Amino acid sequence: MLPPDPLIPWFENFVGIAYRYFEIRMNVVPLFSDLKKAQNFWRETAHWWNDHSIKIRFVETGDTYWFIMGAESRQAKNNKYLFKVLPKSPHYERFKKGHEGGAYLRLGTHTKKFKKDVKDDAKCNCGHIKEDHEEGDDNDACLYEECECKKFETFQINLLKKKKTVTDIKFLTEAEIKDDVLAWNCFSVHKYTKRE
Ligand SMILES: [Zn+2]
Ligand SMILES: [Zn+2]
Repeated sequence: MLPPDPLIPWFENFVGIAYRYFEIRMNVVPLFSDLKKAQNFWRETAHWWNDHSIKIRFVETGDTYWFIMGAESRQAKNNKYLFKVLPKSPHYERFKKGHEGGAYLRLGTHTKKFKKDVKDDAKCNCGHIKEDHEEGDDNDACLYEECECKKFETFQINLLKKKKTVTDIKFLTEAEIKDDVLAWNCFSVHKYTKRE
């Protein structure tokens, strides 16, 4: 394994990670705010990664975790490592339990949808479905008395078709990262040097 090159830039301009069970393996899906950004990232960077060299590291820090991903590239000048600190979620926990050492990497888009964009049974961010919100164009407060929601809003995730297979996935504690070159590089850049 080549040590991560300290000159490779860290990329955190994505909105989060989705975990989806889809086609035999779990999918790890970095989410972009629009399709163009996702396609560009795939074309310029992920496409050139050698599958067997892709590493994903998860480092838990309290209620959050660090998502860290890097790989060797056949086009080094466009290579980037991804990292983001994210809140733990049930999807993350399910992935942690269920991944069995492998995953597909895909990119995805994460877009906001409003009442007019979705079916009646679509779930609002408040947890209640569209039918439980007021009808009419200017009025869509949630009808549940205890709910504060004033506007139906939800997110839609779309997965791009292209995928890579990742087989080097590790869950680490912060005490363990000194033995992991990629995670150590990430924490050095984003945590330890900033603290000084
Ligand atoms: Zn709502
Ligand atoms: Zn509600």
